[in-house]
Amino acid sequence: MKILVYGRSGQVARALQEKSSLAKDSHWIFLGRDGADFSHPGTVSKPILDLKPDWVINAAAYTKVDQAEKEFELATRINAIAVGELAEACTITGSRFVHFSTDYVFPGTGHTPWKETDATSPINAYGRTKLEGENLVLATGASAWIFRTSWVYDGTGANFLNTMLKLAATRDELQVVNDQMGAPTYSRDIAEFVVQAILKSEGAATKELAPTGLYHFAQSGETSWHGFAQKIFALAVERGILARAPRVVPIASRDYPTPAARPLNSRLDLSKLSREFKFTPRSWNEALQGCILRMGP
Ligand code: NDP
Repeated sequence: MKILVYGRSGQVARALQEKSSLAKDSHWIFLGRDGADFSHPGTVSKPILDLKPDWVINAAAYTKVDQAEKEFELATRINAIAVGELAEACTITGSRFVHFSTDYVFPGTGHTPWKETDATSPINAYGRTKLEGENLVLATGASAWIFRTSWVYDGTGANFLNTMLKLAATRDELQVVNDQMGAPTYSRDIAEFVVQAILKSEGAATKELAPTGLYHFAQSGETSWHGFAQKIFALAVERGILARAPRVVPIASRDYPTPAARPLNSRLDLSKLSREFKFTPRSWNEALQGCILRMGP
């Protein structure tokens, strides 16, 4: 089985590299920006047409949420136009396509977890580009799974977890918003799920395959960024990564203005995923514990 992954250094791309070893007898190719630059659509699908992989996974994206407000055109090329081209190429080669999207396609209103069938209405530029990407993929009719996820983190790289740990080294007190609710999602859990889903579907009869289309994949449970920060510090102290936890002061989003608006309700309903893939992600608490255990002092 040949699997072509777009993205090499991102959180999910790196996790896929680690988890690729779960798929024995498979050949994985990871393409960095040097092999396919999404800011120049028109060239990105060539590797699919040349290699004719069984699976194409797109882990590349423009993810700078605040900067997207100013770079909407660039973000659209990367998150939508290029992605549509990948999906189109997959329809020519017969490759199955896996793509990732975000809860930011939703307006963030209410308190109920979003279902795949709920109406989308992004409140920031990044969300609009990701939604356009979803729509372009679906319009091609490619055999695609699109997984919307939320608050992705990893033990290394630039993300909320590492920002908090860095700040904690020099500050006694931090202010963190407590009115945005969602589920922090560990990149390794996303990657392991995707690899297992591919393996299962390779061996499965057609009627047992999870249908193509949109799915929500996030860790189970919910918290706020404030709750996430508190748990990070508690676990980091336990693990000896931090000598002591800073005080985490809850604040409202309106007191922490950012160029891009953030949805208050980032909760994703996982029931379609559980039903079709017979899989429910572990709780965000447990996943975070697993991540911090791997980090060490
Ligand atoms: P990262 O920001 O960690 O990685 C993004 C990847 O995209 C990097 O490998 C980057 O390459 C690559 N990339 C950026 N611009 C280009 C370009 N012009 N051409 C080719 N490659 C490019 O993202 P994540 O791993 O966190 O995200 C994976 C998916 O999950 C994305 O679809 C994202 O939208 C989605 N998602 C992420 C969330 C999050 O909190 N991070 C939340 C919800 C959804 P390079 O290293 O060279 O910059």
